[in-house]
Amino acid sequence: MRQRSGFRRTEIFASLLVCLITFLITATGFAQQSAASTATPTQVVVLGTGTPLADPERSGPAVAIIVDGAAYLVDCGPGVVRRAAAAEKNGIKALAVDKLKIVFITHLHSDHTLGYPDLIFSPWVLERAEPLEAYGPRGLKSMTNHIEKAWAEDVHLRLRGLEEANTTGYKVNVHEIQPGIVYRDDNVTVTAFPVKHGTWKYAFGYRFDTRDRRIVISGDTAPTDEVVKACDGCDVLLHEVFNPKRKKIVESKQKQAYFKVFHTSPEELGDIATRARPKLLVLYHQVMGETTEEDLVEQVRQHYSGDAPTGGNRLLVTGAAGAAGGYVASLAQDRGWRVTGLARAEDEDFVRSLGAGFTTRAESGWDAVADGAALQEQGLALVRDGGAFVGVQPNAVPAAERGITVAAVVTHPDGPRLGDLLARTASGELPARVHAVVPLDQVADAHRAMAKGGVRGRYVLQP
Ligand SMILES: [Zn+2]
Ligand SMILES: [Zn+2]
Repeated sequence: MRQRSGFRRTEIFASLLVCLITFLITATGFAQQSAASTATPTQVVVLGTGTPLADPERSGPAVAIIVDGAAYLVDCGPGVVRRAAAAEKNGIKALAVDKLKIVFITHLHSDHTLGYPDLIFSPWVLERAEPLEAYGPRGLKSMTNHIEKAWAEDVHLRLRGLEEANTTGYKVNVHEIQPGIVYRDDNVTVTAFPVKHGTWKYAFGYRFDTRDRRIVISGDTAPTDEVVKACDGCDVLLHEVFNPKRKKIVESKQKQAYFKVFHTSPEELGDIATRARPKLLVLYHQVMGETTEEDLVEQVRQHYSGDAPTGGNRLLVTGAAGAAGGYVASLAQDRGWRVTGLARAEDEDFVRSLGAGFTTRAESGWDAVADGAALQEQGLALVRDGGAFVGVQPNAVPAAERGITVAAVVTHPDGPRLGDLLARTASGELPARVHAVVPLDQVADAHRAMAKGGVRGRYVLQP
């Protein structure tokens, strides 16, 4: 399994290079793609990462997925409506309280549902006219009925009294779900998958597939392959975790037994993430104990290194001032690599401006080499035993040696990804370097030059 996941990580890494190269040589598609890039990318807003602990700094578990101005909530821990209001104040208009219309509940533990009555009634009082759509496990219908009964007098008075509340917004349409696709509209497809939360008979995680992102939320769970299957290289995996060094756990066999079947340790999460291969792993619902967030992340890191092969994250990018290399040197840092760029002395300022280290002569021993300069066998020789190599010449992949995982990029169209990269370039976050401006009818020459390598920047094709 380790071997295979190592290979797949390299594939992800390769796909990163691929989309960069697609970006570089599809100038003719620019007008079309920049139109697509004006749509706001999918956003994940973590409204609360808490546990039953009444931590004033950590609201109850709730996550919002925002697509095209619509908010989709997962769980409603205590504080959910006020955290949404805070997010709206900070510019996330989709989280205006009267726009909270749909929630997917992972399981019926109180820490995940104490905000449910709040989500039913507060937005209504604040003029939401539509009923709340609530998806969740068996038992949700009964819980909802009880809540409606508990607040019946309030609803009665608001409807009959001077408040002039609307007659629809306090209602709930409950959907008790089974694993599989549970919801679909123009923005998202939501898939529920069963998780292992101790003695809870029904507990789910959710996967959101949008136009541009796949996002997976574990809910509360002990380690389960269902998360691995749902994520499978997803963009964002939000996963729960507990700190096994917490005093209460260390001192109690009973607590240890509980956590083993209800929750996920950093070591177990490391294994899950290694196999699930998310592009971004986010810890939430952290049972902290006496530790810090940094320590918890460090505990996970001991068992999970992201894209990097086991044992190190030092990446050498050859041609780091070039058309593909410049982007790899910049983007790989987002994915946890410590990057050094190999380039000519006169490109030092440019490479360092990307936040990368710089060298003109590389010794061997790198955990991975992204071979933007098409050094091929020479580039491979710079990788340590058991490391990773990604080339840019799919028709001439160097033969694997010394346990090195070898891959080459292959271009494929990916509109949303391209749009995202263009937006990041337009905002100045990514560098835009122009190698040459040529007429459109020289596109074939430009392609040939790109394939050969050694190009410092992009070709701009002029229609
Ligand atoms: Zn919980
Ligand atoms: Zn729970």
